Amino acid sequence: MSRLATIDLGAISRNVETLRAASGRITSMAVVKADGYGHGAVPSARAALEGGADWLGVATIEEALELREAGIEAPILAWLHETDATFPLAVLRDIDLGVSSLVQLEAIASLTPAVGIHLKVDTGLGRSGATPEDWPALVAAAAAHERAGRVRVRGVWSHLSNAGEEADLEQVARFAAALDVVAASGVEPELVHLAATAASLRLPEARFTMVRFGIGCYGLSPFGDATSHDLGLTPAMTLSTTVASTKRVPPGQGVSYGFRYRTAGETTLALVPLGYADGVPRSASGRGPVSINGVTYRVAGTIAMDQFVIDVGDDAVATGDRVTLFGDPATGVPSADEWALAAGTINYEIVTRIGQRVRREYV
Ligand SMILES: *Cc1c(COP(=O)(O)O)cnc(C)c1O
Repeated sequence: MSRLATIDLGAISRNVETLRAASGRITSMAVVKADGYGHGAVPSARAALEGGADWLGVATIEEALELREAGIEAPILAWLHETDATFPLAVLRDIDLGVSSLVQLEAIASLTPAVGIHLKVDTGLGRSGATPEDWPALVAAAAAHERAGRVRVRGVWSHLSNAGEEADLEQVARFAAALDVVAASGVEPELVHLAATAASLRLPEARFTMVRFGIGCYGLSPFGDATSHDLGLTPAMTLSTTVASTKRVPPGQGVSYGFRYRTAGETTLALVPLGYADGVPRSASGRGPVSINGVTYRVAGTIAMDQFVIDVGDDAVATGDRVTLFGDPATGVPSADEWALAAGTINYEIVTRIGQRVRREYV
């Protein structure tokens, strides 16, 4: 199998170390949801812990259980609950739970043993988290459950919109007001957390006592105006495959569905066995960059489900030559950011969507 996502675990460890140093070495959580942003949850989690992360963060309890099954004993927080059906398993495996509502709190408080909870307030993003109106009642109920030994309020948290510094600072202020309510209740959570990668690097006011690093662990930048290199980060994933076949074709040869590309002159077409089923965005048709033998080419025509074509002109490209779609641009290959730009999306989506036919190889 030549479809390969090569994951540099040393880069993940170093990225976590770099992010920790840049954000003041306070307690940090490495976010490994969505299979470690496509890099593999378990290996990424281990590498992040190696780099000094104190906590692991995931969206779902199932994702947390996968880490526990692998023998990872570090503290884990899971925050996106569709139902309360998996709360008993989380409690048994000592997985801290994000709590956004009284309904969730009551379901968790009824279980033994008492588990760590992180009360979430919505400071403006409009996703989960108690509204400022519901917050005092949630905090009061949690305080009562904690006094009775039914839960441990380990954290209070929220999430930013990244809608600009002014909006973020407004959320910081709402968060501070929510913390006043907590302080008045007598609850003393050890972890107060608001910042993900972006704010942990650029908004010191949002750091509180823990920061949550997601995209930065994998060496990608959350900013449009700063590259991985600018932040001292190394992209951990390299997506590559090998040329499946080549052939000489005459001028005017149509290429791929819809003939959105035609050869200008006699040329060599190289067939690349990766398509949108593997996570290569179809919306990057005609634009996505690849590197073959040190030369960068653009996708010719439409990206199909399993394959796309490169017009390599008269270059000596042969079956079996390695084709790199993205990796660490310091090594001369395109970046995930270039694919994001070509596809009209963000680097998060490029790495997270890599499909199941692509083998992960760890180095
Ligand atoms: C995904 C996520 C993060 C990580 O965000 P990055 O921008 O990738 O650092 C942090 N907190 C929450 C609640 C998240 O959902």
